[in-house]
Amino acid sequence: MSEIAAETIRMVDLATQYKRLQSPIDKAIQKVIDETSFISGPIVKEFSAHLAAHIDAKMVIPCANGTDALQIALMALDLKAGDEIITSAFTFIATAEVIVLLGLKPIFVDVNADDFNINIAAIEKAITPKTKVILPVHLFGQCSDMEAILALAKKHNLYVIEDCAQAIGANFTFSDGKSKSAGTMGNIGTTSFFPSKNLGCFGDGGALMTNDEALGKKAAQIANHGSKVRYYHDVVGINSRLDSIQAAVLNEKLKHLNDFSTRRNKAAAYYDEALKSIAELKTPQRFKKSTHVFHQYTLQVSNGKRDALKNFLDSKGIPAMVYYPLPLHKQAVFSEMKDISLPITEQLAEDVLSLPMHTELSENQLSYICTTIKEFFN
Ligand SMILES: *Cc1c(COP(=O)(O)O)cnc(C)c1O
Repeated sequence: MSEIAAETIRMVDLATQYKRLQSPIDKAIQKVIDETSFISGPIVKEFSAHLAAHIDAKMVIPCANGTDALQIALMALDLKAGDEIITSAFTFIATAEVIVLLGLKPIFVDVNADDFNINIAAIEKAITPKTKVILPVHLFGQCSDMEAILALAKKHNLYVIEDCAQAIGANFTFSDGKSKSAGTMGNIGTTSFFPSKNLGCFGDGGALMTNDEALGKKAAQIANHGSKVRYYHDVVGINSRLDSIQAAVLNEKLKHLNDFSTRRNKAAAYYDEALKSIAELKTPQRFKKSTHVFHQYTLQVSNGKRDALKNFLDSKGIPAMVYYPLPLHKQAVFSEMKDISLPITEQLAEDVLSLPMHTELSENQLSYICTTIKEFFN
C-alpha cells in the first residue's frame, strides 16, 4: 500500500482534479477558441460577475495575477512616496515587493504564533503619522482579525487592503453576528488565481474585489492603461488583464469552490485527529471568528526537528514544504531591515512545515502520510 500511496502523493494534485472536472472545462476553453475572443471576451465579465455574487462584493475587477492586483490596489489609493504600509513579514514576497516598487515603505510587524496572521497590538504600535494602509495577509486560508483591524483603521483614518490570495472563500464573522467574505471587508481585496491557489486557473490570473464603486472603477481604469474611454488616458496605469481562456477555466471551477473548501477541510480534520497526540507537533489552530479554507495545512515542529522530519518524509515519497523559510525582513532585498526583530515570525520560519493539501487527497494517502509522521516521532 505504501508504495502506491507514495507514488501518487503530491503537494498539490492539479492533475487528478483536472481529470475529475475535465469535460466542462475543456468545453469552456474550446468555446473561447471557437469565438477567438481571447482578450476581454464575454466570459471575463461573466466570471467576474459570478465571483462577485459568490463573495457578495459589489465589484470584482479581474487582472493578470495576484501581484498586479496588490499593485493596482495601492495605485488606486493615491498614496505618495514614503507613505507607510503596515504588513506582515511572514508572507510571500509579492505582498511587500509592490509597496517598494511604488516608492512606498513597508513596515513589517510580527504575527500570532497560533494562526500565523498579523498581530493586532503590533500593528497599533507601528502606526505613525505616515501610516496610510494596513495590509493584512489572510495566510494559509484563514482571515486575520478583521474586526480589530477595521477598528484600528477607523480610529487612525487608514485604508485596509486585504491580501486574500490564499483565502478565497473564507468567511469572517463579526461580533454582531454578520459574516463577510475574505477580501470584502477592507477598502479593497486582492487575490490570485495561480494554478495552485484554492481557485486556480491554467496559467496566471488575479482579481481585486471591493464594495466601494468609485475605488473599483479607479482600479479597473488603472488595470486598463489608465483609460476609461479607449485611446484616452487620464492617469498612469498598467496593462493587467485576465485572459478569456483563464476566465473560462475559473468560471467552471468557481462552481466547485465550496466543494473544494469542504474537501480541504476534510483532509485537515483527518490530519488534526491523527497528529494531535504527537507532543512535538502543533497542528494549525482555528481562529473562532474565521472559517478556514486550508490553502496550506501547516504544522509547527518543535525542538529543531523540522528539517529532519521533512527529509524523512521526502525519503518516503511524501512532499512537504516550508512556507516560508526566510521572513521578508531577513531577505537580501530588504537588507536595510535586517536588524528589525520579529521573534514570532523568525521562530515560525524555523518550525513550520506544510503537508500535502489539495482537493484530491484520499484516505489512503492521508493514512500513509500520518503513519509515516508517527513513525518519525516513535
Ligand atoms: C500567491 C500570492 C501572491 C501573488 O500572486 P501571483 O498571482 O503569483 O502574483 C500574493 N500574496 C500571497 C499571500 C500569495 O500567496
